[in-house]
Amino acid sequence: MTHLIIGNGIAGLNAARAIREMDADAAVVMVSDETFPPYSRPMISYVLEGSEPHAKLPLFPGNVYEDLKITPVLGHRVAHLDVKKKAVRLENGTHIDFQTLLIATGADARQVNVPGSDLGNIFTMRTQKDVLDQLEAVSQGVENALVLGGGLVGFKAAHALLKRGINVTMLITSPYPLAMQVDETAGKMILEELQAHGLAVKVGVSVTAFDGDGTVGNARLDSGEILDCDLVIVGKGVDPSLGFIPENDIEIGYGIQVDPYLCSSVPDIYAAGDAAETFDIARQTRWINAIWPEAAVQGRIAGFNMAGRKVVCPGSLGRNVMRIYSLDVLTLGLANPEKTADLEIIQAGGETAGAYRRLAFRGNIMVGAVLINQIEQGGVFRAMIENRVPVRIPKKYLMSLNFNYSRLL
Ligand SMILES: Cc1cc2nc3c(=O)[nH]c(=O)nc-3n(C[C@H](O)[C@H](O)[C@H](O)COP(=O)(O)OP(=O)(O)OC[C@H]3O[C@@H](n4cnc5c(N)ncnc54)[C@H](O)[C@@H]3O)c2cc1C
Repeated sequence: MTHLIIGNGIAGLNAARAIREMDADAAVVMVSDETFPPYSRPMISYVLEGSEPHAKLPLFPGNVYEDLKITPVLGHRVAHLDVKKKAVRLENGTHIDFQTLLIATGADARQVNVPGSDLGNIFTMRTQKDVLDQLEAVSQGVENALVLGGGLVGFKAAHALLKRGINVTMLITSPYPLAMQVDETAGKMILEELQAHGLAVKVGVSVTAFDGDGTVGNARLDSGEILDCDLVIVGKGVDPSLGFIPENDIEIGYGIQVDPYLCSSVPDIYAAGDAAETFDIARQTRWINAIWPEAAVQGRIAGFNMAGRKVVCPGSLGRNVMRIYSLDVLTLGLANPEKTADLEIIQAGGETAGAYRRLAFRGNIMVGAVLINQIEQGGVFRAMIENRVPVRIPKKYLMSLNFNYSRLL
């Protein structure tokens, strides 16, 4: 029996661990284009800011491949999947057959495609190599950095560069950073906190070209403005890394659509992590929750199923906790939903209060939350959303810092 895992991120690693727990002898082959051992991807921004050393990134002490008896095929990208023949072809032409396959290829960072985007010191931020390259540029002396995009990655990059004392300008299309994660009130509190620590933000503009002599020197904006910059980080989002799958061979929405066992529409082919569309508990539909804890759990569940032990994935839930200078920010589920007739939103606090709370409900079921400061009840809210606990008390009580969870039950 050969279990093939594409991707050595947390989903791939946890699948291999689960297979090994079930079967000491099965062949496990892991292909990845990254040669670095499995590592903490969210931590790369801490390496950029200098609060964690690069050496701390690996997730596994020792030699993960030897210890888990995995055959590693590193530094190669899978170029083609043949669903009928149960085989993959690598970019170098090598074929690998499998009995079960896990697609744990995560996501690729979107690039900017404007004249000059091939200049030096323009980076995406997805891999440990990206951050090593950024640090190399910083060591040559960077004064002005530009961050394109105000999502989680752009925001983390800006935060890290600011902490290094670099002037940072963020270009975003939404009126505040983290617009996918938080609503406007929370977003503006975050924006003001970042601005108070030196972040410059330009809203509603985009780059039309970069100029420079070998490395980037400035960016031209569609507003006509020209900004000096000697480093650019592109945080324009990610897309599931699925280019090697022929169209229509496997059901793909935005990611690979999987059943509760994380099996795709093709028997013996599983998907987990940022590449997989699982059932989202808050949305009650399929969704990619591209977050670390989901990738970790899904990888493990997929591994068990590949090894023959039926384990159901209970569904996924988007969630995040961040510390932004003096702000603790926690988001859960539908944190910034479109306002629809069936959605009830209650909120309290805000900038002058120093704390903010916004909860979203469908009927008497909580489906989303944004908390800024006073986030201690986040665990209870998460349990309520995940378990779809009906709220049978006036919802305003949930805004109180000392509401009694047992009254809900
Ligand atoms: C800067 C940054 C900060 C983040 N911060 C947070 C955070 O605070 N909290 C949080 O929950 N999440 C965070 N995330 C997201 C989190 O890192 C991802 O959700 C998680 O890493 C997904 O794991 P994965 O195993 O699905 O995929 P990945 O970690 O992306 O691993 C997939 C691997 O497969 C390889 N691969 C892809 N295609 C191929 C191919 N065709 N052939 C061979 N190999 C291939 C990739 O190169 C990669 O090594 C952050 C991400 C980034 C980049």
